[in-house]
Amino acid sequence: MRIERANAKINLYLDVVGKRENGYHNIVSIMQTVSVCDLVSIDFRPGVHTSIVLRASGNDQMPTDCRNLAWRAAERYLEKTELRGEVILSIEKHIPMAAGLAGGSADAAAVLRGLNRLCGDRLSLEELSALGAALGADIPFCILGGGALVTGIGEQLQPIPAMPKSFLAVACMGEGISTPWGYGKLDELHEGFHQPKAVDPRCSRLIDAMSSQTLLESSDCFYNIFEEIVPPVRPYVNQIKELMRQCGARISMMSGSGPSVFGLFQTAEDAARAVEALQKMGASAFVCHPTERYLN
Ligand code: ATP
Repeated sequence: MRIERANAKINLYLDVVGKRENGYHNIVSIMQTVSVCDLVSIDFRPGVHTSIVLRASGNDQMPTDCRNLAWRAAERYLEKTELRGEVILSIEKHIPMAAGLAGGSADAAAVLRGLNRLCGDRLSLEELSALGAALGADIPFCILGGGALVTGIGEQLQPIPAMPKSFLAVACMGEGISTPWGYGKLDELHEGFHQPKAVDPRCSRLIDAMSSQTLLESSDCFYNIFEEIVPPVRPYVNQIKELMRQCGARISMMSGSGPSVFGLFQTAEDAARAVEALQKMGASAFVCHPTERYLN
């Protein structure tokens, strides 16, 4: 049996730069795993028949059948490796759901990492990543963790140094938007992205700032295209951003397609003060820190 951490991710930078003929959008994103995490336990008992059992605690909204990405990741792994037996999964859910923090992808990635280790590392990292990409665009990144420049539809990863030690708060309140609705709205605003966008220099400046420890001075480089469309329909986003700034955040921005917001603070005390104020407002809020790549 293995227990894997499934860390949430935040997007320090997220742009949509084009659209493929199959309707998928090309993105450019800087993703970073943070210490808010689900705990995923994985057990595999080889046998003649195949079955997958998933138990969950911490959030009764999470599906525990084949609608769960972690369940589907186990199914795909067995298909690909032609292994048979019983997979027993258990997820202790802490990451807010449908919040732009990639909780489902993190769980699926944890299952792929854990099962692969239990089964003698049958698949290479590239094979695991391809298996994950077929299930969800954020899964390849979630297999790797740490910091990465993510391009294509999410399948192209270039690891970058993890964010320097810093103090983060992550908060969310209210319902998430549906991702197809979000992309549809962006299509309307950007003429279907039929003209691929040029590379924005803010993205490479942000990568430089990550390695040179000058992130807090680079607030003008953080960017999330979904901030064009989500705050008007989810007013808590701007309220949370504002409250974080009042508590000393140097940067506060929505993660992914929202409605979660993260803030970057100079001191642990400021981050804790923000979390306390956000919880009083009724938000789910956590102090957290950036995490390193998972070891393979
Ligand atoms: P992303 O940032 O990748 O867009 P998200 O954080 O917005 O993801 P998730 O928490 O991954 O969203 O969940 C979105 C939906 O996926 C949920 O409403 C839920 O029904 C379904 N889902 C399937 N598997 C899981 C899982 N393991 N954890 C959470 N949600 C899951």
